Amino acid sequence: MKKVVKFGGSSLASADQFKKVGAIIRADQYRRFVVPSAPGKRFGKDTKVTDMLYHCYATAEAERDFDIELEAIKARYQEIIDGLELDLSLEDEFAVIAENFKAKAGSDYAASRGEYLNGIIMSNYLGYEFVDAAKVICFDEDGNFDSEKTNAVLSKYLEDKENAVIPGFYGAMPDGKVKTFSRGGSDITGSIVARAVRASLYENWTDVSGFLVTDPRVVENPRVISTITYKELRELSYMGASVLHDEAIFPVRKAGIPINIRNTNSPEDPGTMIVKTTCAKSPYTITGIAGRKGFVAINIEKDMMNSEIGFGRKVLEAFEMNGISFEHVPSGIDTMSVFVSQDEFEKKEQSVLAAINRLAKPDIITLDTDLALIAVVGRSMKDTRGTAGRVFASLAHARINVRMIDQGSDEENIIIGVKNDDFEAAVRAIYRIFVDVQL
Ligand code: ASP
Repeated sequence: MKKVVKFGGSSLASADQFKKVGAIIRADQYRRFVVPSAPGKRFGKDTKVTDMLYHCYATAEAERDFDIELEAIKARYQEIIDGLELDLSLEDEFAVIAENFKAKAGSDYAASRGEYLNGIIMSNYLGYEFVDAAKVICFDEDGNFDSEKTNAVLSKYLEDKENAVIPGFYGAMPDGKVKTFSRGGSDITGSIVARAVRASLYENWTDVSGFLVTDPRVVENPRVISTITYKELRELSYMGASVLHDEAIFPVRKAGIPINIRNTNSPEDPGTMIVKTTCAKSPYTITGIAGRKGFVAINIEKDMMNSEIGFGRKVLEAFEMNGISFEHVPSGIDTMSVFVSQDEFEKKEQSVLAAINRLAKPDIITLDTDLALIAVVGRSMKDTRGTAGRVFASLAHARINVRMIDQGSDEENIIIGVKNDDFEAAVRAIYRIFVDVQL
């Protein structure tokens, strides 16, 4: 059995955190492949090493002296090495980094050193082999991640390794130039490694005890979701819930490997299992609630719209021509509305409206601004009577006016549009009726 364990920045921010991580790995002989992030924040106002590296490199690129900034980064690592009492020096590594900064090796190279150096420390601490991700995580010449090539290279490389440390967040292009994923991308590396070694489980260790039913900034102490499907997770993270990088589910989903979100500071908590499919029912009917503010609805009316073939295409073409992606398109007999991000729309407003007028020749166009969208997601909803009824009853009781309703064709989500100002109260009302009332 093989498990891949990824540790986030806060789990590796100091020697004390490293010790917790060491104990977690040693507690289970199957935790054989380790993917570390760069050291994160030790306390609220601290700076992540990745951010320090970006800043330091910007100074180097502007041809200013970056010694002090690089020394501060060196100090972060030295503190960890000293705290772990390791017989390890990163002097030579830092000399190479300083040279490469002067030679303007690129901001991706700079940022990647956070994981690279932490990987060296981790491998020294655990006695596991260090594998430079630049050798095994492949990007193509345009800088796009090459999943199939990586899987072939990496699975071959790790085939007969008992254990290894593979730093997260970066890889290299065919010419050897270092390339990173987007921020938080070590989650993706963990998933790629899990697929390559055909792991039975991908454990993603962070600083929360799992994925929460809703945003803790909106509802105090929300419950932890014990089991969620990849699909549900995708819906919730698209709508703003964040614990795991959006793209991290794809490699393991392909291989059907579950992800377990765990808390380094509370390792006994079971966390959240993210699975392909399950018969485990959510205790609250719904699995989660997430949402985002800042949408505008463009409402279009035209007599006999219902019989005009191609009307919807013409309207959507106006958005496509302006490079705006739409979120939802609820429609009536002679009306249709298009929900898009207000920020994006505002920049191109008149050009979009002119295109709709030209292409679709509507009678009336009106705009509904400052809307929020809330997704109520749950695989158990389609088999449970009255779910939608409870959602809307809770909103009515909270005196919230519903501006839009959309249900996904798979009946796993209900999307509700409300005014931005009603967003928090709406999420709380839905949470209360499903989670608090249920208990
Ligand atoms: N260290 C990188 C970041 O701060 C990547 C990661 O932690 O996943 O975004």
